[in-house]
Amino acid sequence: MKNYYIFFGPPGSGKGTQAKKVAEKLTLPIISTGEILRQEIEMKSEIGLKAQKLMSQGKYVQDEVVGNLIIKRLRKKDAVNGAIFDGYPRTEFQQNFLVNKLKKFNTLGIFVAVKDAEVKRRLGGRRACVCGQTYHLKFKPAKKNGICDVCGGKLFTRPDDKPESIKTRLEVYHSLTEPLLKYWEENGRMIKVDGEQKIDKVYNDILAKLKKKN
Ligand SMILES: [Zn+2]
Repeated sequence: MKNYYIFFGPPGSGKGTQAKKVAEKLTLPIISTGEILRQEIEMKSEIGLKAQKLMSQGKYVQDEVVGNLIIKRLRKKDAVNGAIFDGYPRTEFQQNFLVNKLKKFNTLGIFVAVKDAEVKRRLGGRRACVCGQTYHLKFKPAKKNGICDVCGGKLFTRPDDKPESIKTRLEVYHSLTEPLLKYWEENGRMIKVDGEQKIDKVYNDILAKLKKKN
């Protein structure tokens, strides 16, 4: 039987890290729309070229296009036993599409819960340097405040991590993605873990709850 696990959580919840760990443990591929689109662009497929044009104009690639790419991806050999989704679905349309395609198989939503205040702490404390080094005011501070340990450059906050961007990202998450959890919860197909714990503790909680569900 094929198993599909769909990760949910706000930005900064660490769900990507958890998805990766679970994927390795269960030997399942991670399916993320960003990666699929990048692959299509690299292959210069018709869809890839179209997507590249849209993305370069700052436009959104349509749900149908992304959906069809995902179906194509699911047919690859490494997904013969199932797959793990990270960052898809994000909207109700995408979720309906996916649930419909996977209705014959085992599906389970995994919700990594982190409160807004913690998201703001995590994302708001991130600092970057032009050399590529990253820091966090609390979790990974630079030796000298505001200065890169590696190159001595001045640290900055990425536009995405500025308070107003974090606020917008959280709003989008709460209005579009969070309501998707209702489906999984109501169908008894959701596990919820406290994402504010240490990475390994979150991971062990996920594994323990998966065992109970299967
Ligand atoms: Zn640097």
